[in-house]
This record gives sequence, C-alpha cells and structure tokens, in this order.
Amino acid sequence: MSAGVTTTFDDKHSESSTLTNPTLVLNCGSSSIKYALISDDETTRITGLAENLGLDTARIKHTTLNGEKLEIAIAGGRHELALKRILELLEQYHFIAVGHRVVHGGREYSEAVRVDAHVLEEVKRLKVLAPLHNPANALGIEAVQAIYPEIPQVVVFDTAFHQTMPPVAYRYPIPKALYEEEKIRRYGFHGTSHAYVSERASHITSATGPHGWITAHLGNGCSASAVYDGKSLDTSMGLTPLEGLMMGTRSGDVDPSLHIHLKRKLGMSLEETDKMLNSESGLLGISGLSNDLRTIEQAANEGHADAQLAIEMFCYRAGKYLASLSCALPEFTGIVFTGGIGENSVTTRARILEVMRHFGIKVDAGKNAGLVGGNEGSFHTDDSSIELWVVPTDEECRIAQETRAALGLQ
Ligand code: ADP
Repeated sequence: MSAGVTTTFDDKHSESSTLTNPTLVLNCGSSSIKYALISDDETTRITGLAENLGLDTARIKHTTLNGEKLEIAIAGGRHELALKRILELLEQYHFIAVGHRVVHGGREYSEAVRVDAHVLEEVKRLKVLAPLHNPANALGIEAVQAIYPEIPQVVVFDTAFHQTMPPVAYRYPIPKALYEEEKIRRYGFHGTSHAYVSERASHITSATGPHGWITAHLGNGCSASAVYDGKSLDTSMGLTPLEGLMMGTRSGDVDPSLHIHLKRKLGMSLEETDKMLNSESGLLGISGLSNDLRTIEQAANEGHADAQLAIEMFCYRAGKYLASLSCALPEFTGIVFTGGIGENSVTTRARILEVMRHFGIKVDAGKNAGLVGGNEGSFHTDDSSIELWVVPTDEECRIAQETRAALGLQ
C-alpha cells in the first residue's frame, strides 16, 4: 500500500475502546522511529516503524490493533514529517502520556523524568556523548510538544539503569581530571532491556532471592550486564556503545592504541577509524558477508571459513565477557539471553555456554531448541550450577511502565 492511507481504519471506535489510557512510546533513531501505543494494563498495543527517513524510500509500516498492516510512503520525509503522520494515525486513541527512549542521560539521570524546558536542554546538551541519537530524541520531544503541548512527556534514558554501578566498575583507569571535568567514565546502554529481562527472570524463577543475573542482550547491538537484586553492578558497554562485546557491525573491545597505529601506518584519520570500528567491523568485518547472523550461519553451514570464524569469535568473546562479568555478582543465579540473537539462535547460546565450560553449566538441549521465535523459558538441567533463561525483551513495555511511574499514573 502507498501514500495517503491514514483513514483506512474501518472500525475506529471498536478499536479505541479496547486500548484504555494508552501511553505512546517513541524511539527516535538517526534514520528511523519505532513507536508503540500500549494500554495501561499492557495487554494491547499498536506498533509501527518509520524507516529510511530522509530518503526517497522513507515509509511508515503500521500495524493496527486488529493486526492489519499498513504501509505509508513519505518519500523524502524526515523526522518531523514522519512524527506528524504517526501522531495523526494515533490521535483517535487519546493517549495520555508519551515516553521517549533517550540514549544518553549522562551522570545526571538515574531514573525517568518528566520533560520540561531544562530536561529538553539536557537531552540536547548530552549530544556530545551520543551524537547520532540524542539530537533525534530531542526532535521527537519537540514534535510532540508542538502538536500536543498539553500531553505530559517523559524521557527514559538507556544509561539510567546502570547508574547504580560502583566507581570500581564505571571509572576508567585514566587521570582523575578527565572524569571530574569531562565526565569520561563508563555509562552503559540497553538499560531498559537489561532492567526488563532481569526483573522478569526474578519474577519467573523459583530460586529464592536476592538474585544475581548476567543479562546478555544480543542483537545488532550487543551488551551484557551483571544485575544483583535488581541493580546493575557492571556492564560491557562504556562511554559509548562501542565498548564490550563483538556486535553486528561494531568491533567491541580493541586495543585503545589502534587509532594511533592506523594513523601512523595508513594515515587514517580519527573519523575514518571511528567509522570502521562502528560500521564495518564485528560480524560484518570478520565474515565479509553481512551483519545479519542468519546469513552468516547459512554461509558457515555451507563451509564459508570466514563466516565460521565470525561465529566462533562472536561466541568466544561473548562467553569470555559473561564469565568476567560474573565477578561483579555476590551470587550467580543464572544467565538471561535476549535480543534477536539471544532469543532465536539456539546454537549461538549453546556455543557461548561452551566457552564457559569451567562453570558447571549444563544445557538441556531439547529445551534450548524450543526457545525460539519469542518463547520464554529456562533451558538448564536440574544439576546445572546456574539457571539459563531466554526472556524476549520488551523495551517498549518497560518505557511505558517507567513513563506512567514518573507521572504518578500507577
Ligand atoms: P537490534 O539490535 O537492531 O534491535 P535485533 O535485536 O532485532 O536487533 O537482532 C538482530 C539480530 O538477530 C540479527 O543479527 C539477526 O540475524 C539475529 N536473528 C534474528 N532472528 C534470528 C534467528 N532465527 N536465528 C539467528 N539469528 C537471528
């Protein structure tokens, strides 16, 4: 379907009656906007995605409450136009609040906050720490303000959940002045996902608390966290989302001297090395094929040596990181896998756990094989030293919950 289908809902009134007091969740990225309208009891939602913003192929993919899929072309449209169209699509549902995923909250924010002029300025100022994301997040806030000035908005920071990390985990061993004057420290990201899946695991396990979880969010971006008694004690991402695990296109940890070495040896500028480490490395860089694990798994099965190495490195580096993060936990209850890879790749989960072979972890292969496509469950044997869980992440739900809490609506 193409442009101008905003009025194709047949049954607006019966739809809106089942979506009570909804919260609109907006995740404005550099070239895309994900959105979800979630009822206050979290049982019903409308979802969508505006993608390719700024290009001729810009479009909105919208799924109605009835599961009907619409595609709306907005050729050349940028964030402002996409948000205007999204708000038109949703206005009939009378949302009562808007929650924004904001990537960087610096060290100022350890929880979600209601938007006011100061908070908006802070989101913009923190662009220095998240140049691709925070400006897009600010645009989203302003677009809603312009159309619905009376609707309360809340920002939920990706970094906030990790503000409980102790200095031993968040400081870098570099001169103190850089921390005190320039705020150079580890912040961590994917906070809403780590918070959601660790809380969910604590809810569904029969182990008595307090629980110590390693949460492994493995998607295009990958990060892991050590969460004890609901608090993040350490995480793999740092000042930026480049640190830590090997990812789809990001390298994760490399020698910090790589920039200077490449400058001296190849004359590469800092920007070129930064782009290489963020966009041309990880699974893509090693396989030479793709950042998508499905493509790489298929090639590896057909004997492609670089694809095989990409998977081995991904699993080795992930296993090594999970093992080291376990040192942050007073007690190790288990590992929780989530994200597109963590929720779907049975072999990747098994291989990561093989790397941790000294831990006495025992995988129930049958249960592991059944945990795909959005299923939640455990896959450890009764005699395993720790529990193993797959919990599909739901960042939108967590953002809606935090938005309502920040506004005193629950
Ligand atoms: P993002 O970080 O962009 O939100 P996702 O969490 O959607 O990404 O994860 C994307 C990754 O998940 C891709 O590498 C994709 O190949 C992988 N993935 C999704 N489904 C499967 C599957 N069935 N088997 C293996 N990998 C999968």
